[in-house]
Amino acid sequence: MSRIIAIANQKGGVGKTTTAINLSSCLAEAGKKVLTIDLDPQGNMTSGLGVDKNELENTVYELMLDECSIKESMADTVVEGMKIIPSNVNLAGAEIELLGINEKEYILKNAVDYIRDDYDFIIIDCPPSLNMLTINAMTTADSVLVPIQCEYYALEGLSQLIHTIDLVQQRLNPDLVIDGVVFTMYDVRTNLSNQVVENVKENLDTKIYETLIPRNIRLAEAPSHGLPINMYDSKSAGTESYRMLAKEVMER
Ligand code: ADP
Ligand code: MG
Repeated sequence: MSRIIAIANQKGGVGKTTTAINLSSCLAEAGKKVLTIDLDPQGNMTSGLGVDKNELENTVYELMLDECSIKESMADTVVEGMKIIPSNVNLAGAEIELLGINEKEYILKNAVDYIRDDYDFIIIDCPPSLNMLTINAMTTADSVLVPIQCEYYALEGLSQLIHTIDLVQQRLNPDLVIDGVVFTMYDVRTNLSNQVVENVKENLDTKIYETLIPRNIRLAEAPSHGLPINMYDSKSAGTESYRMLAKEVMER
């Protein structure tokens, strides 16, 4: 049985893309068959997995506008055997173009349904907003994984995100659940990181992953080399943490 996980949080810069790239790569390293989908017009997951986002014939945009098949929309990543349905800036216009389409909340789901059984995991990177692209991710997914950055305003916007997930669950995808929260950019040297973790645990009634993703410079460097962390520096603290997260996700 395949599992489809959307990585979502409407806040930018909280570690969604970093988590999507490196969780996918560590799941693949553990022998799982993984497909990645980039739903952010910024295309950072696409370039972070070694794909030139400006040299693409097909992307998730062409897929959603029914201009290519799902197989045609896939590109090879730098990770052996792992493909991506890539994205680039063209997707920025999709929101408006999708308006006139029937069942626009299910466009991605209807495409992914054809191939989902070919994979153990499908990981979707969401844009930093609660727009129609994120809704498409949530109707396609079985669960939502929420990265939370360990900083002062961590809880801000979370109730809105959870409300959106609830609404999608009630109206569009009754099977959708919150997979869990994962803390990112954790800094052992500051009290703040600990306070954020404690605060979220007190205020949020969801599963929390035990793995804490540390603030790690290698994680920030890897995308500019087009490599996931386990291929960029297999001994780094970042690699260790995403391998642990992958293990936790597989055990779930
Ligand atoms: P989002 O997709 O939520 O906008 P990103 O994953 O792109 O967030 O991360 C935002 C920035 O922070 C990027 O420059 C990224 O390289 C950096 N970053 C993310 N996670 C970490 C981490 N654990 N340690 C250090 N830098 C990180
Ligand atoms: Mg991102």
